[in-house]
Amino acid sequence: MTDSFEAKGKRKKLVAELRQKGISDEEVLRAIDTVPRHLFMDPAFLVHAYVDKAFPITSGQTISQPYTVAVQTCLLRVNKRDKILEIGTGSGYQAAILAEMGAKVYTIERFRELFIKAQRTLTSLGYTADFFYGDGYEGKPQYGPFDGIIITAAAQEVPQTLLQQLKIGGRLIIPLGNSGSQVMTVVERTGPNSFEYSSHGSFVFVPMLKGTVNG
Ligand code: SAH
Repeated sequence: MTDSFEAKGKRKKLVAELRQKGISDEEVLRAIDTVPRHLFMDPAFLVHAYVDKAFPITSGQTISQPYTVAVQTCLLRVNKRDKILEIGTGSGYQAAILAEMGAKVYTIERFRELFIKAQRTLTSLGYTADFFYGDGYEGKPQYGPFDGIIITAAAQEVPQTLLQQLKIGGRLIIPLGNSGSQVMTVVERTGPNSFEYSSHGSFVFVPMLKGTVNG
């Protein structure tokens, strides 16, 4: 799979648009400028790849809107070598952004087909991440605790199992609400049993569902 001058030019414009929309974290913008988003989508959709919109991928799921990826990644406050758990691998684009920023990425997907495809895409681009086919509600306690947990699907409430897998000082980012619209929520673990919540605007995600799909 290859990048192209055309795609690089489109990414520069996308980054400029994200700056205008208020994204100012230079590391996040650099990652978005670097990762070829079009290679996470069907090759026929190059024209859509650098428009700031979500887009359908396999299994009725979506690759998140670049602005949404930027906001969630900013809220995570990623440092190099941080251990980050992602719930909802989808296309693998968000995982690639985190890997580009130097994070050690663990990512879980409930659709087998997406799990396989995303793994292939990241490997072909030279990114390293640990991929898991499973139910993200369970997290990955054997690899935790994590510096950050990012949930890229909408949940009604914060899964307590995931909160227990956060380091003290770690942050969990989750869109909370029903199917129409969710509030981007940050939960910071301030002590063994203390958590601080903050809200960061409205977004729309596909739902976080229990169990796995072998297809
Ligand atoms: N981060 C993705 C966006 C994915 S859309 C990207 O960059 O492309 C949300 C994804 O979450 C979907 O692929 C969906 O199948 C997955 N998902 C929903 N509930 C899940 C769960 N309980 N465990 C793991 N993945 C889940």
